[in-house]
Amino acid sequence: MSTDAVISAEALTKRYGSVVAVDGVDLTVRRGEAFGFLGPNGAGKTTTLRMLLGLVRPSSGRASILGRPPGDPDALRRTGSLIEGPGFYPYLSGRTNLELMARYAAVPASRVMPALEAVDLAGRAGDRFGSYSLGMKQRLGVAAALLKDPELVILDEPTNGLDPQGMRDMRALIADLGDQGRTVILSSHLMQEVQAVCQRVAVIDHGHIVTVGTVEELRGQPDLEVRATPSD
Ligand code: ATP
Repeated sequence: MSTDAVISAEALTKRYGSVVAVDGVDLTVRRGEAFGFLGPNGAGKTTTLRMLLGLVRPSSGRASILGRPPGDPDALRRTGSLIEGPGFYPYLSGRTNLELMARYAAVPASRVMPALEAVDLAGRAGDRFGSYSLGMKQRLGVAAALLKDPELVILDEPTNGLDPQGMRDMRALIADLGDQGRTVILSSHLMQEVQAVCQRVAVIDHGHIVTVGTVEELRGQPDLEVRATPSD
């Protein structure tokens, strides 16, 4: 494993009964890069990310995150993630929701406004969460992930269901996270999305890593284009 690896996985596998959700995944994510995790629905992206975060126990294989085993408290403190939408209260403002989350996470309340500013929601901080557009809700989810000022940010399909403007806003936000020196893992089923914001990409299908390369390397492989399923 190279010393600048923020994420390392070797033969990571997860089985649910007869379903092999993730099948022998090898992965290295380097410090400071924006890494795309590209694959169609059901490919195994979420399960892999959940194993890396220690939310799901692998059936076999090994992984480390920030040099620690998955689920290690120090690694979790240095990692922000948006995997399942956080449970925000619709009748509370975006700001109050984040203040509650900060309290639960033992993060100073002084982190809340910078996090809202980072996702361009400071001007709507006092509005009820329930009045936010889907794109704003997703951006508030990213703000929640930023409360700990994490060096690693893991975002699982953050543009799912967003309209074109919402997608553009989220992509600009992800690019900002990279500019701030954070390592970013972005899972997506849209090739153009990972090409827009990531330097390297792993393509996963049926639990297998199909290929890993730079965005330029993948551009030469048009057969890798992944489309959204009709259910999106
Ligand atoms: P999506 O975009 O739909 O979330 P994904 O690439 O994130 O897709 P996963 O959610 O990791 O894929 O799912 C991979 C496979 O594992 C799918 O076939 C899914 O049905 C199965 N799976 C995931 N979690 C479970 C579970 N808890 N029990 C049984 N099967 C599961």
